[in-house]
Amino acid sequence: MTVAIGSMLVVLGTTGLMARGQGEADTGPQRLNMGAGWVTGVYYPLAGSMSRVAHAHIDDLSLTVESSGASVVNSNLIGSGDLDLAIVQNDVAYYAYNGLLREDFQRSPVTNMRGLFTLYPEPVQLVARADAGIRTPSDLAGKRVAVGPLGSGAEVNALQVLEAAGLTEGDLAAAERLEAGEAADYLRDGRVDAAFFTVGIGASVIADLAVAQRITVVSIDGEYADRLQAMEDFYARATIPADTYNQVGEARTIAVVSMVVAREDIPEEVIYRFVAGIFGNLDVIHSAHQAGRLVTLESALDGMPIPLHPGAERFFQEQGMR
Ligand code: GLU
Repeated sequence: MTVAIGSMLVVLGTTGLMARGQGEADTGPQRLNMGAGWVTGVYYPLAGSMSRVAHAHIDDLSLTVESSGASVVNSNLIGSGDLDLAIVQNDVAYYAYNGLLREDFQRSPVTNMRGLFTLYPEPVQLVARADAGIRTPSDLAGKRVAVGPLGSGAEVNALQVLEAAGLTEGDLAAAERLEAGEAADYLRDGRVDAAFFTVGIGASVIADLAVAQRITVVSIDGEYADRLQAMEDFYARATIPADTYNQVGEARTIAVVSMVVAREDIPEEVIYRFVAGIFGNLDVIHSAHQAGRLVTLESALDGMPIPLHPGAERFFQEQGMR
């Protein structure tokens, strides 16, 4: 944030907006950072493609991408002012903004988070070793399970799936919080029996694992899906088609939606140009990952759980969508 006091210019905060001269507040060169997610997930390649769009097509805007545990930690870093933009799950954005569900969100609701646009569905993908005898979420009892990386939305979803199966972490032989790539390594080496990934279809963390190890994607459907949908509004039904991953059959599960958020104090003009630049160059996003092909203007406000940033509001108004 830049504040002019008399003729003196004071720059508050350490990241994001660069110091600029008076009168340039909305138009000078902007260097923003974006919290992405797992290097082996979809947020990270997609954020990379947004950075390329900014570099090639948006004047005076550059975007640095940071990998992270993902939705929960990204939300908290928006709250603390350490991130300018981030990709998060829409359920986590809702909990963060409204100060719900988790102690950290209850203590410090992320009220400075604003929505820009939604991206693509992220199914809860419960991956198990094919020989682990896990056919339903209830079969996780007594198993060693990677319940999502620390600070992830995947962990939020994993704990809700356990609850829908009438289980707590105490019913598992072990509940591990591993970085996504590490969870896949543990599964391959037999150090865990199953791992939760809430991630776009075709994420390399699962695709690569399926080549190295016989796995199944366990359906979370029927009574489990009913309970989860009753528990939280954000869950929709989703199908992961057979052969999405090497020799893995179809799975029916539940999904949330990923979205881009920004801090409310990023200038309207900057966010407007960013959003317009992304939707004017969707081919770059589409070619970054198969899940990126699901990003469309028509669906860009579907599942939006928090107020829009004024710059996004202006863009979607111009499109006749607000
Ligand atoms: N949806 C995941 C999470 O917030 C991140 C997935 C990704 O990095 O693509 O836990």
